[in-house]
Amino acid sequence: MNRDYPLERVRNFGIIAHIDAGKTTVSERILFYTGSQHKIGEVHEGETTTDWMEQERERGITITAAAITCFWATTYLGEEGRKNKDNKYRFNIIDTPGHIDFTVEVKRSMRVLDAAVCVFDGVAGVEPQSETNWRYAEEAAVPRLCFINKLDRIGANFEKSYASILARLSKKAVRMQIPIGEEDKHEGQVDLLDMKAYKFEGHLGGNVVETEIPENLKEDAIKYRHELVERIVENDDEMMNKYLAGEEIPVAELKKILREAVIANKVFPVFCGSALKNKGVQLVLNAVVDYLPSPLDMPAIKGIDPRTGEEVERHPKDDEPFAALAFKLQADPFVGQLTFFRVYSGTIESGSYIYNASTGDKERLGRIVRLQADKREEVKKVFAGEIAAAVGLKDAKTSNTFCDENNPIILETIIFPEPVISLRIEPKTKADQERMGMALHRLSDEDPTFRVKGDPETGETVISGMGELHLDIIVDRMKREFNVEANVGAPQVAYKETITGTAEAETKYIKQTGGKGQYGHVKLNIKPLEPEVENKKKQKNIHREEGFEFIDSIKGGVIPSEFIPAVEKGVKEAMERGIVAGYKMVDVSCELTFGSYHDVDSSEIAYKIAASQAFQEAAKKARPVILEPIMKLEVVVPEQFMGDITGHLSSKRGLIEGMDDRAGLKVVKAKVPLSELFGYVTTLRSMTEGRGNANIEFDHYAIVPANVALSIVEARK
Ligand code: GDP
Repeated sequence: MNRDYPLERVRNFGIIAHIDAGKTTVSERILFYTGSQHKIGEVHEGETTTDWMEQERERGITITAAAITCFWATTYLGEEGRKNKDNKYRFNIIDTPGHIDFTVEVKRSMRVLDAAVCVFDGVAGVEPQSETNWRYAEEAAVPRLCFINKLDRIGANFEKSYASILARLSKKAVRMQIPIGEEDKHEGQVDLLDMKAYKFEGHLGGNVVETEIPENLKEDAIKYRHELVERIVENDDEMMNKYLAGEEIPVAELKKILREAVIANKVFPVFCGSALKNKGVQLVLNAVVDYLPSPLDMPAIKGIDPRTGEEVERHPKDDEPFAALAFKLQADPFVGQLTFFRVYSGTIESGSYIYNASTGDKERLGRIVRLQADKREEVKKVFAGEIAAAVGLKDAKTSNTFCDENNPIILETIIFPEPVISLRIEPKTKADQERMGMALHRLSDEDPTFRVKGDPETGETVISGMGELHLDIIVDRMKREFNVEANVGAPQVAYKETITGTAEAETKYIKQTGGKGQYGHVKLNIKPLEPEVENKKKQKNIHREEGFEFIDSIKGGVIPSEFIPAVEKGVKEAMERGIVAGYKMVDVSCELTFGSYHDVDSSEIAYKIAASQAFQEAAKKARPVILEPIMKLEVVVPEQFMGDITGHLSSKRGLIEGMDDRAGLKVVKAKVPLSELFGYVTTLRSMTEGRGNANIEFDHYAIVPANVALSIVEARK
């Protein structure tokens, strides 16, 4: 069985937007224009309301799906040309989370998509979240187009929004269009490359009509075309010379160079329009075809061979060994649990077995589907570079790698941050109790930064995540999606402990009780873990994990090697229990330097106890401290509240890092300990008559000041 779309005609992209910028509306229009969706919120003749409601329901679900597939042929092919299947492109549109508390989700989605369309509000321009998301896209080197939306709104201003992109996101952005009219006069766009004007007629603007450039825009169009062409040709020496010699460069040539520049992250083309008023979305889709990469344009993906620990690569080729990444689990009301995956190399067929390199498990891959606006298309075989969803896989989790068992690879290497906040949660009724376990299990499968733990002492359930809002949303989803009502406790900060000095300790654990005795003797040297250790990772006798390193320097077998793992285990257990206030200890390098053994009495348990005691003793001497999560805070408020806001933050141990102007408002950037930020959003609202807004994101762990540490220790007693 062959692929129905050659790989160069596939585009895997995401739509990235600040909440409310119009991602949903843009997605709806895309589904409509790509033809897989003919009814947007409108009842047509001959349809019953129930039909329509069903479709609405389905549409609503599809819009939030992890990946939707649709097909597009560029509008300049004309009516007939567009019908030809060979002119069509397959778009896999990958959902990117809008909210900042899901940093990890955003990061992860950046790995799965090859490119992105960034949507901006034409009134507000670049907003805080646009900046954060842009930064993640930048880190992952994801090629981008910009779409300045909502140009029909009162106060919309293309030039200002464009300037905010240049100033705040990238100098590499360049206008591809200028709008015809703004606010209630917004009618369409002038394309600066082909120097034509476009308007949109018919149902939901479905007909793209080419017209003359309005007289009053001609001068601007010529000026900005020059600018655009210059920005394009500077990416190609030959073209640059031709251009400087005064030669007219054909549009097809310009497009070709621009495509290469966009894929290389050298240029970010900017488009504009109004999704709601049906102006311009089709032209963005043309641009997705023209400028965004196909999987073939992407570098090979790297992973680790789990057998050797060596780095290996996979290319987007059907004949390479199969490798795919599960990037999202999602419950679908029509077909059940879906595991969305992207195939990086090779192919996979429904009905075969799928090997999960991350867990070592094998599962039968029953059905595979692709979500389209109006149906779940059954897929027999998925090829390299494609995206699809497996139905009913039981063991696979988000970010697991599926691969050829004989050519194993692990793709996901994102290190997820440990949760920084936790709270107790209790079901309201007996019925809730049963569903709660299932709901929490599902939610934590989906989201690696969300954890669930039973507290063995109290029998209560503790959930933890990346911020107050993160946990709020989880509790809310439990209610809405799983119908579980729960009482939640006060949020608790996930403190940690570490050491700031070096120390040594020696312990002999000896017991003589009639029969067989116990004998364990170790000498440990501990010091703060330096980041450069990362480089030595592969060296022998060093075992490094997140925040812990164990070096075995025993010479001449003074402790037999079979007992060494027990020593490491004892140290780890002591670290789990902490030393200052009972919080987990991190970032410690522990070296086992000396010891002894007894032929008969030595045992694993004896070494474990000795190691644990020696570690505790050493840690006490190594200037132990408590660490607390520090959050990065961005507060946007009207100017008159500035003084109150900064004063309040300073009283909260906050460090003000800067202030900015943004669209007539003031922005305060600060770093503030999480423990001081509980309920901050509510406080902010009441301090600013509801007009202030805040983004809070985990930044790093820092040492707690001594006076605060004392009260933490007190509270734990
Ligand atoms: P999302 O939060 O990014 O998914 O944004 P939505 O698509 O849900 O849009 C947020 C609000 O803005 C909704 O009320 C939309 O109707 C509105 N909206 C979206 N696009 C436009 C547009 O082009 N013009 C105007 N005036 N409103 C828009």
